[in-house]
Amino acid sequence: MRYPNATWKPITTNFRPGRAGGRRRAMAFVCHSQEGSRSLHALFSNPSRRASTHFWIGRDGAVEQYVDTADTAWGNGERNRAGGPDGRVPWAAAAYAAASLNDETISCELEGRAGEPMSSQQEAAAGALMRWVHVAHELGEPRRHVTVIEHNQLSATACPSGRWPIDRLIAAIGVAPRPSSAGVLGFWYPDYTYDSALAKFINDTIVNQLRQAGIGTPKAA
Ligand SMILES: [Zn+2]
Repeated sequence: MRYPNATWKPITTNFRPGRAGGRRRAMAFVCHSQEGSRSLHALFSNPSRRASTHFWIGRDGAVEQYVDTADTAWGNGERNRAGGPDGRVPWAAAAYAAASLNDETISCELEGRAGEPMSSQQEAAAGALMRWVHVAHELGEPRRHVTVIEHNQLSATACPSGRWPIDRLIAAIGVAPRPSSAGVLGFWYPDYTYDSALAKFINDTIVNQLRQAGIGTPKAA
């Protein structure tokens, strides 16, 4: 999908058409920090960079889109986080085991550097974009660590250096309309409602993590 409020500046390299296996859809919005200035279109158009994000937000609040959200941008790296993804991201362990952490995500760069807060224009643009991502992709209610995550929760990096006021943005988004069905989770749990599918997904993921850690029978603390 293309965000109506973005300038569509497609790149022709550094992304993969579709999502892995043709079956996955994005499940989360990933926040990045550019650590630089000006449009990333030229950089992401350089094949040697092997990197891209779907979106970029300038200091003036202008949004550029480089990759359709149906396609896989190369924003979050491969499986390079020591010890695996952040345990607070319930879907990441399964994604980490299966494929690239780019397959599950919609990624956005933010013009500026570490220590530079979002401008008011950027905050307004980021909130509007995050709301669109949640509604258009049926992610359900925005939740930190579930549908909104930082790059450092997927890969070994400081990015986005705390530059995204995620809790404030989520509060500003409000509650996005719930999907009428289980939404993206319907792939695994077609007979569930959104809430029950999310609960089951989180539970199953935790059980899988315990099994992978060699813990057969979870004990009470
Ligand atoms: Zn990043």
